[in-house]
Amino acid sequence: MSERAHLAVVGAGPAGLAGALAAAARGVRVTLVDAAEQAGGQFYRQPARALGARRPEALHHQWRTWERLRDGIDRHLTAGRVTHLTGHHVWCVQREPDSFTVHALRGPAQEEGVTVRADAVLLATGGYERVLPFPGWTLPGVVTAGGAQAMLKGGLVLPGRTVVVAGTGPLLLPVATGLAAAGARVAALVESAGPGALLRRAPALAAEPGKLAEGAWYAGRLLRHGVRTLSRHTVVEAHGTDRLEAVTVAALARDGRTRPGSARRIPCDTLAVGHGMLPHTDLAETLGCTLTGTAVRVDEEQRTDVPGVWAAGESTGIGGAALALAEGHIAGRSIAARLYGAVPDPRSWAAAARARARQRAFFAALDPVYAPPAGWADRITDDTVVCRCEEVTAGQVRTAAGPLGAGDLRTVKLLTRAGMGWCQGRVCAPAVAGLTGCPLTPGRRPFARPVPLGVLAELPDA
Ligand SMILES: Cc1cc2nc3c(=O)[nH]c(=O)nc-3n(C[C@H](O)[C@H](O)[C@H](O)COP(=O)(O)OP(=O)(O)OC[C@H]3O[C@@H](n4cnc5c(N)ncnc54)[C@H](O)[C@@H]3O)c2cc1C
Repeated sequence: MSERAHLAVVGAGPAGLAGALAAAARGVRVTLVDAAEQAGGQFYRQPARALGARRPEALHHQWRTWERLRDGIDRHLTAGRVTHLTGHHVWCVQREPDSFTVHALRGPAQEEGVTVRADAVLLATGGYERVLPFPGWTLPGVVTAGGAQAMLKGGLVLPGRTVVVAGTGPLLLPVATGLAAAGARVAALVESAGPGALLRRAPALAAEPGKLAEGAWYAGRLLRHGVRTLSRHTVVEAHGTDRLEAVTVAALARDGRTRPGSARRIPCDTLAVGHGMLPHTDLAETLGCTLTGTAVRVDEEQRTDVPGVWAAGESTGIGGAALALAEGHIAGRSIAARLYGAVPDPRSWAAAARARARQRAFFAALDPVYAPPAGWADRITDDTVVCRCEEVTAGQVRTAAGPLGAGDLRTVKLLTRAGMGWCQGRVCAPAVAGLTGCPLTPGRRPFARPVPLGVLAELPDA
């Protein structure tokens, strides 16, 4: 190639940054595109610059790794090898015979169209939280666990004074400890998984001692802050008139039903609730990449089955920041080699491949432990709103799947409008799937976000 090969990386979280660094260090010109105003993604979410945070590291884990990523990217930015387009939301990646066009929106109202042409694309779009409804979940004061953390890390604000952190999954630990350390009273950490399930997988989990040490560190922090942990418990209802005033939690029996007589009310002004995460796959789907379950399928080099498209991090499966870093690094090296016509030597990334294998095995063992508790959908009353955009209730969804005979999410949507609003089902689809028993299938949306007609009209006919 006479000119330097050009890679577009969508997502500046751990995976995208590691991929950009590895590719730029090997002579590839990189454009890093991210919807956020600063690099870091979810794990290394930075406080807004205007807040002038003096010690942002106080809210973070593994800050040294972040400093290495940040300084590395800064050096490449200064040298002109990397361009970082912040505040650019990619709505589509278009494949052409020998290249790709990345279409993004920018501006205060995301009304201005921007295109980036590249020889290859790395999709590092991360994941998003699985939201499961329950009576009262739409009250002000009920936020997602990640949302509460984003307020703290990005805005340096607490979502409330007295917080219950609930749901399931490892994310609840940093959220509860982070809120407590920042001055919130964490009235309880309500986890639907039980310690027995973790113990049964102890051999697989022990293969990654660093993660176990991290878990123990969080447990120590919870003790230090006096946070009461209720395992094998779930939130069955949020109460309040204008906003959240309390939650009712109950113990779970083996079959996932709540134990009679175990319900108790906990006063709080905030409920931070999360039930794990799902991969962001919209752009990959539009490009025609095959998914395995809900994640983008990749090979040993992190290549998707669409030539020229790589994927890394949580878009390929939920597995944490260390896995995202390893995958991003491997993808960046593979891209650099292949863009210059070489066959990459996997021995050159052996350490990252080992880290990837260990992390994948660890999260594969953890995954079933932190599944939403059986019977969660049965606890949703008919009058509970499930699709907030279109205000569709659980009763309407049940009617669509029962008497009206809908057998897939698309038919439920056509009958009820659930999933037809602004979020296009990203929030409500897991709940609708759980209520109806329909499989959670990819949305097959042509665009990853709503696009102004003016932007579409300005595109060349092709
Ligand atoms: C809300 C939330 C909170 C989390 N908190 C923790 C935590 O405290 N501790 C922990 O260990 N793990 C946490 N995780 C998991 C952790 O963030 C991930 O393991 C890790 O960040 C994954 O890295 P990634 O690079 O794959 O994706 P991410 O870090 O999620 O980065 C993806 C990036 O892609 C960008 N993006 C996505 N779609 C587009 C688009 N269409 N156009 C432009 N940009 C786009 C996003 O803005 C984001 O910056 C959290 C995850 C979430 C979703």
